[in-house]
Amino acid sequence: MTPKSLNAGARREDVKHPHRPALSVVAPCLNEEKCLARFVDRMISACQNSGRGSYEVILVNDGSTDNSWACIRAMALTRPGVTAINLARNYGHQVAVTAGLSQTRGERVLVIDADLQDPPELLGEMMARMDDGFDVVYGRRRGRAGESAFKRATAHLFYRLLGRVSDIAIPMDTGDFRLLSRQMVERLNAMPEQDRFLRGMVAWLGGRQTEIFYHRDPRFAGKTGYTLANMIKLAIAGLTSFSTVPLRLATILTCVGIAIGCVVALYVAIGQLLGHVVAGWASLALIITFFSTAQLGALAVISIYIGRIFMQVKQRPLFFIDDVVTTDARLGLAMSPQSVAVMRDRDVAAG
Ligand code: UDP
Ligand code: MG
Repeated sequence: MTPKSLNAGARREDVKHPHRPALSVVAPCLNEEKCLARFVDRMISACQNSGRGSYEVILVNDGSTDNSWACIRAMALTRPGVTAINLARNYGHQVAVTAGLSQTRGERVLVIDADLQDPPELLGEMMARMDDGFDVVYGRRRGRAGESAFKRATAHLFYRLLGRVSDIAIPMDTGDFRLLSRQMVERLNAMPEQDRFLRGMVAWLGGRQTEIFYHRDPRFAGKTGYTLANMIKLAIAGLTSFSTVPLRLATILTCVGIAIGCVVALYVAIGQLLGHVVAGWASLALIITFFSTAQLGALAVISIYIGRIFMQVKQRPLFFIDDVVTTDARLGLAMSPQSVAVMRDRDVAAG
């Protein structure tokens, strides 16, 4: 077999499945009751304007405490093409997107926030780029209207730090707003890792990836579900999922410690030779502080990785789905390997 024939059929993107919609949209929702109606209107218009035929808009309720689930459910029952998924609790944005992806059937899948910060109208442009043969088209942020200077500065710093220390090139200034081919979604669904940093995982998948630039709008309504703690958690997941550089910190600190130790030893030896013994406690305190901090720092890094190994070996399902509401009788309930979903049939309204 020639390499070419080995690859034949590997790219399934052009093979149209009779029961697949042309496009699936996944939108995670945490307390978005004020945004949902407008989002679904704009998203459905964008799907229709793209002129690609059938579509499904999957709204994933990630444990909202407001009326989001009631809104999502009502929309699924009244608006063709909308599917509502209710997760058992709040799992966080990345797992909510993962749950949504596991339910998609489309030839292509758009991941988009429900708060209208990512304009649904960019769908047409993203589709056109994918027509050129790309597997992934991601939105790269040019402006971030309505976000605090602190958020912009920390995001800027994080992407640059990640770029430096990660083993793969994660595109800068991108979120999870992206269009993926079916093949990419299947591959993502097959990745069993517990700590999900999707934008990094998509970059890791390889294939042909490209970007479109866009201005990130302010939130339509409501407030961000990403607290500072969530952002730090995501940043640590990103750094430790794609880089072992932090682990090497222990080695670097040891080298620095040895170097400092040598200088101090030399200083003391010369002091002895010259007949004056240093009696200051400052240098001693400094050395003790430095070494104890270095040790603690190294331990902290190691414990983060051990914690991740611990979570991974437990092999827990990533999420549970309580309800799926749709008027689409063809909804495939095929689960990806990492998800075990509990369906309540009463809520699957086949029509
Ligand atoms: N979100 C979610 N679960 C969470 C936090 C956020 O499903 O725990 C959703 C949220 O409803 C929105 C998207 O993820 O559609 C992005 O979240 P958010 O707007 O709060 O983040 P930001 O844009 O401020 O980074
Ligand atoms: Mg947002």
